[in-house]
Amino acid sequence: MDLFKYAHQLHYGTIHLCVEPEIGLHAIVALHNLKFGPAIGGTRFVEYPSSNDALRDALRLGRGMTYKAAISNLAHGGGKAVIVRPPNLSEEQRVEIFAAFGRFVDSLGGRYITCEDSGTRVSDMNVVRQHTRHVLGYDPASGSSGDPSPLTALGVRRGIEAAAKFKWGRDDLSGLHVAIQGVGHVGYYLARELHAAGAKLTVTDINQQAAARCAEEFSATVVAPEAIFSVDCDVFAPCALGAVIDDHTLPQLSCAVVAGAANNQLAEDRHGVILRERGIVYAPDYAINAGGLINVAEEFAGFDADRARIKTEAIFETLLEIFERSRVENLPTNVVADRIVEEKLYGRTLTGSHASVAVEA
Ligand code: NAD
Repeated sequence: MDLFKYAHQLHYGTIHLCVEPEIGLHAIVALHNLKFGPAIGGTRFVEYPSSNDALRDALRLGRGMTYKAAISNLAHGGGKAVIVRPPNLSEEQRVEIFAAFGRFVDSLGGRYITCEDSGTRVSDMNVVRQHTRHVLGYDPASGSSGDPSPLTALGVRRGIEAAAKFKWGRDDLSGLHVAIQGVGHVGYYLARELHAAGAKLTVTDINQQAAARCAEEFSATVVAPEAIFSVDCDVFAPCALGAVIDDHTLPQLSCAVVAGAANNQLAEDRHGVILRERGIVYAPDYAINAGGLINVAEEFAGFDADRARIKTEAIFETLLEIFERSRVENLPTNVVADRIVEEKLYGRTLTGSHASVAVEA
């Protein structure tokens, strides 16, 4: 990877590195865009095959956070941290690493606010908090906002309501058939929301207990993981993994709407074009799943659960705007979402910056 070329392509930004050989800390903080405020983004703590892979991940993810914050009208920019997880990590070394990382975050003077992400735990954030106040999502007992999944699920339900309004002119979800892929943290709460709204559910999960729980609590029909794509339904809600809409799964879809919580749902941008050609309304992932980010952004502002809820409910209006503009401009919804963000950030639409640049948070 040519670092500067890649950073240029993604419209960076500043990239900060911290190396502490005695501790084994190799950390990257990629601050993509701070136009609307300090960047919020989680810290990923995983093993990487090479420094280039770690850098690429940080840059790609940091940009994704800018788009998610901007589409949600938050007073925040986008950034992400990556700490390369050393092999054979001891608990003692883990604490030292997160203490040093906390000092690193503090040195950035509040331009970057960190929180949990893949590989990090609340206990790591508690260590970080001893060295900087620019951290969110630490111990809920100390006033943090806690698990963001229920709010993410609320946002996804509002996104599905927007799609139902746009597609069928409906004001409720009663009798609508939703197929949910993955009923983990977000998927379970989404199933609960939809069941309460009178929707009919089909679910799948590689964890059979998780699926069985939804069958018991919400009268959901359970199907095998590979069967979820071809379920004849109104809405397909991917809530498990990224890149689930690809050349193999797209022809199987028998739904009118794709709207779920997973990040990076489209394997490639061109799959948004194909969805549109097939008449399937796609709710862009970073717009519909922003409830979790809204939750931590509210924690930054002084947590107010009602305000977080109201802002998450507004995902309905954001998605309706995207759907309407997609219809009027005859463009895929994923392209429209990117354009809305870029017009806010740069006053113009960027060309050629999206292909192969997945958005995640
Ligand atoms: P999770 O790990 O709690 O749940 C994912 C579920 O999917 C698990 O139950 C897992 O067993 C299941 N699963 C994995 N592979 C599967 C497969 N092939 N087929 C069927 N089921 C499978 O994760 P989560 O926190 O619920 O997040 C789900 C998705 O939403 C992820 O893509 C995540 O990045 C995204 N997301 C989550 C939040 C949040 O607030 N948690 C916010 C924004 C985006």
